[in-house]
Amino acid sequence: MTKMKDYLQLDSTGIRELEEKYLFPTYKRYEVFLSHGSGARVYDLDGRGYLDFLAGIAVNSLGYSHPRITRVYLEQAARLIHCSNLFYNPYQGALARRLAEISGLSRAFFTNSGTEANEAALKIARAHGRQQGYKDKTKVLAVRGAFHGRTFGSLSLTFQEKYQAPFRPLVADIEIVEATTVEALEKAFDERTCALFLEPIQGESGVIPLPGDFFRAARELCTQFNALLVLDEIQCGLGRTGKYFAFQHYGVEPDLLTLAKPLAGGYPLGAVLGNARVAAALKAGEHGTTFGGGPLACRLALEFLDTLEEEKLLERVAEVGGYLMDSLRAIAPRHRSIGQVRGMGLMVGVELGAAAVKTVKKLLRRGVIANAAHETVLRLLPPLIISRADVNEFVSALDGALSEVEAEGASSA
Ligand SMILES: *Cc1c(COP(=O)(O)O)cnc(C)c1O
Repeated sequence: MTKMKDYLQLDSTGIRELEEKYLFPTYKRYEVFLSHGSGARVYDLDGRGYLDFLAGIAVNSLGYSHPRITRVYLEQAARLIHCSNLFYNPYQGALARRLAEISGLSRAFFTNSGTEANEAALKIARAHGRQQGYKDKTKVLAVRGAFHGRTFGSLSLTFQEKYQAPFRPLVADIEIVEATTVEALEKAFDERTCALFLEPIQGESGVIPLPGDFFRAARELCTQFNALLVLDEIQCGLGRTGKYFAFQHYGVEPDLLTLAKPLAGGYPLGAVLGNARVAAALKAGEHGTTFGGGPLACRLALEFLDTLEEEKLLERVAEVGGYLMDSLRAIAPRHRSIGQVRGMGLMVGVELGAAAVKTVKKLLRRGVIANAAHETVLRLLPPLIISRADVNEFVSALDGALSEVEAEGASSA
C-alpha cells in the first residue's frame, strides 16, 4: 500500500505516470505541475512562477492564497465543513440574502458547480412551465455557440457537435436558436416555450458579448410568451466585467441567474437565483443536493463578496480592464495576427486566428498562463486583483510571443 509521504515525494514524472495509468484520459494537460500560488502568480514544483491570466478558468478571482479567504477557510474547517441540507447552517440564508441584494433576485438554490446550477434552472423552468396551465409548455431554447456545461441537461443546451455527438440521445424538447439575431429569436419562440438560456458574454466561444438589441428582444419575447429568461453568468458574473453581473451593463433583468466559478473564492459552489415569478416553482422534495450550500462553501462566498466590496474591486476591474484593452490595442499595429480585441472589464478576447494555440504555448514558456478559446481567440480571465504592472508584464510577454510565432510562420511559408 502507498503511504502518504510517498505522494508528497512524487516528482513530475511520477505524477504523470500515475495519471496515465489510473485516470480516464479526459484531460490534455500542459506540462506544468503546479504546487502553490500567491496573488496573481502560481508556482510549479521546481519553484518556477507563472503570471496567471486565466485564474483557474475565472475561478481564482481574488488570486491565490488571499489572506481573507485563507483565514476563513481554516477557521470554518475547524468548526463545521459539512452538515447536509437536513439541518440549518448559519451561512446559507445569509449568502442568499447577500446575493439577492446585489442581483435583485430574491430566491437562491445552492449547488456544487456551474453545470448543476444550470440543471436546477432547467428543472425550475419545466416546473414553472407546467404551472402555467398547459402540460406541454416544456420547450427550452438555447443559442448556437453557447456553453452551459457537461452534464446531460446542460450538455443538451450546448449545441456543439464535438460535445454532444458521442452522448445522444440528449434531453428532449431543447431547441436551438440559430443565431444571435432578433429574427432567429422570433422564429424560435412559441406558446410551448418555457425558457431561453443565454450567456450574456459567450466565454468558451471566444468572449463574444451578446448584441444589445438581441438581449432586449429576448427579454420581451420571454415576457410575451410567459417563458423564463435564464442568464448563465457562471463565467462573466460576480465582478468579472466591472459590475456584479454582466446583465447590469445591458439593463435587461433575468428571471433566473446561474453562478458558480469564483463564488466561493476557489472552493466549489454554484447557485441559481430566481425572482418572485419563479419563487413557487419548486416544492419541498422536488430538488435537492447533499453538498450544495454547505457551511464552509457559503462562508467563503460571504467573505469573497465582502472582499469584492471592501477592496473596491469592481471599480478596479473597470479601470485595469480598460488599461489592458488599451495596451493590447497599442501593440496590435505591430502584429498581423491580432484581429479584434473585445470584452468587458477583465474578460477579454483577442482574435489571433491560426496563431492562437501556438501563442498560448509560447506564453507558457515565458512564464505566463492564458488560454485559446475555440482555438482562434486568446482568452484572458485574470484575477480581479491584478495591477497595471501585471498588465505591462503580460502585454510585453504577448508582444514577444507573437513576434516569435509570426517569424516562424514567415520562415515556414
Ligand atoms: C464553466 C461554465 C459552465 C460549467 O461550469 P462547471 O462548474 O464546469 O460545471 C457553465 N456555463 C458557463 C458559461 C461556464 O463558463
